[in-house]
Amino acid sequence: MTARPPTFPASTVLGYPRIGPHRELKRALESYWDGRSTYQDLQSTGRRLREETWRRLDGLGLGALPSGTFSLYDQMLDTAVLLGAVPDRYRGGTSEEAYFAMARGAEGVAPLRMTKWFDTNYHYIVPEIGPDTSFRLDATKPLSEVREARELGLETRPVLVGPVTFLLLSQAAPGAPAEFAPLDRLADVLGVYEELLQELAAEGVEWVQLDEPALVTDRTGVQLAAVRTTYERLGGLADRPALFVASYFGDLGDALPVLAATPVEAIGLDLVAGSVPGSVPGIGAAADETALPGKAALPGKAALPGKAALPGKAALPETTARPGKALLAGKTVVAGVVSGRDVWRTDQERALATLLAVREQAGHVVVSTSCSLLHVPYDLDLEPGLDPDVRRRLAFADQKVAEVVELAALLAATPNAAPVGGPTTPAAGQPAKTNAAPEPAKEHTPEHTPEHMLVRSPYAVRAAAQAEHLRLPPLPVTTIGSFPQTGELREARAALAAGELDEAAYDDLVRAEIARAVALQERLGLDVLVHGEPERNDMVQYFAEHLDGFAVTGNGWVQSYGSRCTRPPILYGDVRRPEPITVRWAHHAQSLTDKPVKGMLTGPVTIVAWSFVRDDIPLRDVVFQVADAIGYEVRDLEAAGVTVIQVDEPALRELMPLRREDQDAYLEWAVAAYRRATSGAGDRTQIHTHLCYSDADQILDAIDALDADVTTIESARSGARILDEEAIGDFERGLGPGVYDIHSPRVPSTWEIEVALKAALRVLPADRVWVNPDCGLKTRTYDQVEAALTNLVSAARHLRGDQ
Ligand code: GLN
Ligand code: ZN
Repeated sequence: MTARPPTFPASTVLGYPRIGPHRELKRALESYWDGRSTYQDLQSTGRRLREETWRRLDGLGLGALPSGTFSLYDQMLDTAVLLGAVPDRYRGGTSEEAYFAMARGAEGVAPLRMTKWFDTNYHYIVPEIGPDTSFRLDATKPLSEVREARELGLETRPVLVGPVTFLLLSQAAPGAPAEFAPLDRLADVLGVYEELLQELAAEGVEWVQLDEPALVTDRTGVQLAAVRTTYERLGGLADRPALFVASYFGDLGDALPVLAATPVEAIGLDLVAGSVPGSVPGIGAAADETALPGKAALPGKAALPGKAALPGKAALPETTARPGKALLAGKTVVAGVVSGRDVWRTDQERALATLLAVREQAGHVVVSTSCSLLHVPYDLDLEPGLDPDVRRRLAFADQKVAEVVELAALLAATPNAAPVGGPTTPAAGQPAKTNAAPEPAKEHTPEHTPEHMLVRSPYAVRAAAQAEHLRLPPLPVTTIGSFPQTGELREARAALAAGELDEAAYDDLVRAEIARAVALQERLGLDVLVHGEPERNDMVQYFAEHLDGFAVTGNGWVQSYGSRCTRPPILYGDVRRPEPITVRWAHHAQSLTDKPVKGMLTGPVTIVAWSFVRDDIPLRDVVFQVADAIGYEVRDLEAAGVTVIQVDEPALRELMPLRREDQDAYLEWAVAAYRRATSGAGDRTQIHTHLCYSDADQILDAIDALDADVTTIESARSGARILDEEAIGDFERGLGPGVYDIHSPRVPSTWEIEVALKAALRVLPADRVWVNPDCGLKTRTYDQVEAALTNLVSAARHLRGDQ
């Protein structure tokens, strides 16, 4: 950068949804994958969506428009392609074939790994970088998007994943030496970014956004040094656009002084999840209490989870503990005051106060969202069905863009050091912009949980009572809950919602489907059956629909990965269970067989993790309310004669705070919530839990502390890490390490199931090993399920010595 940097316009967003307001991209992708349309068709849908987005943002009055936030699959994958980091095994065909092979696999090649994007429910493709990866710039995507927008008369700011985050989130290529880390290739990758910045400058691009969310998590001195190297080097380029480094999902912490000392022109701060540097923490952040409820003492495991090493800070020069004013002086600060992670309207007064505090420190302030709007639905106007009282409190992507624009105008009109709440803040009589819900009802605050919900007998006592009562063989065979969801059922559910099918007819269909699943399991010889969950559209939405305090949307889709979206329910008020939810189905299923049928519930942490959650009371209190609702359901199931009850917590790891120092407190209350939900069960009732996507081996102590009698867990895809002797340690309860991956249509052989079981039997006694798939069977066909379960049963019987 030679001349003075261009001024950053007063308002922007870090990114915008891309799946399409009516999931147009999903449809276009799936039709292309099925061979029903061409790649050109897919591209023209993409182009149309991008154009609509830019016009929309421009129409809403946004100052600076981003480009490059669109993706046909994922932004990390796009970055790998941009850098030419395509592993050889995916090459050979067209570039789009390589792209989708990395994303979804192809004939004979498995896809790249996919994992969660920080603490969101978005999943990215994990690039593979090795010592020999050759990097080569392919700037097609950023350049063509800049040009596309120009054809509409609009200038944009290309958004790219920054080099440090890209490498930190990548994995070492297979065969790389053990000591190799992708970050070792930083110098080579920076060469490609330099070339790209020069091309963008030649194109006349003024600003580029480099996303570095990895900097809000604990970083070692070596990694911080990489940040310094990166931005000194990119900042030192002669011909380049102005650089805007965006952080989000938390505070930059130690990375802030490092970044601020480099020549980058703008820094983006998440002032919703984080706080204004040097200020009292908590501005803009939701209250977050960490105290445990007095009664739910954890069993004697002192250090939860205790395995992640603390980052070393040695290699860095001393940094000021409270980055002061000088730090951001001369920089543009892109202040993320409108949350990109929730659906609530912004508290305008509070946001303005935050902006004024930032303006005291920074050269120039730009109003923005806290992160990309990728994580929220498009437009509240697409939800005519919402209760007006709830609706008044909500803002989806377009409403948030409008808030950003409005705040920028307010900020411009507010003189320095003006008292907050002065004449430029909204006039009295305007609707309140806070997300305040009514006072929580007394009986649902944590202190009022009935005593009996918190205490169970010791595991050994329960195990004996259950063995006596259930009389299961060693290596009992079970499944995780769902059976294939047939098209007929989905259609029936749609017809029910549309009023074209009456409830009685729908119930008959569900009952018939339950009977089919039970009959199949009996015929195949499973030991603990399930009802198959045919009545559920989704394991969280189903409960949200039956609990007070939740609203569900008709079109509030949020991208989860690729073409997959979810519609997170909106938890806006106090959660109560007006009446039993699952009991009639469980009761029906149990009436069809003498074998035990598991009652099937979703746990409080998972229900909250996969919803948009009110932020006016601490998250912990919300989770406890849900726990109490599920606790009542557990007791009603038990009273109805259901003696095995599974409470799923696949998202236990997901809500974990990004910073190590906050994690123990979270795990403590998350475990306490689970125990509130389950500890009302008597000794004879066997409580199961199920986890997946959890890196369970890293939180085994917490899983143990859940105190479930049996834990079924994802294991096949993660290479059975859970069964490492060191990981499994002194895990004391029943464990079902999933013996095959249900995400693939492949049917596991009896032999490979036996191999998996023998690995479990090396570290656990036979009476505590369960035989089950990795996860629910919802996405499989009945043929695949029948073949796989047949082999599961014969492997178990063979190892028991029955055959
Ligand atoms: N019981 C659920 C099912 O089988 C669990 C799903 C999950 O873990 N994601 O579908
Ligand atoms: Zn699962």
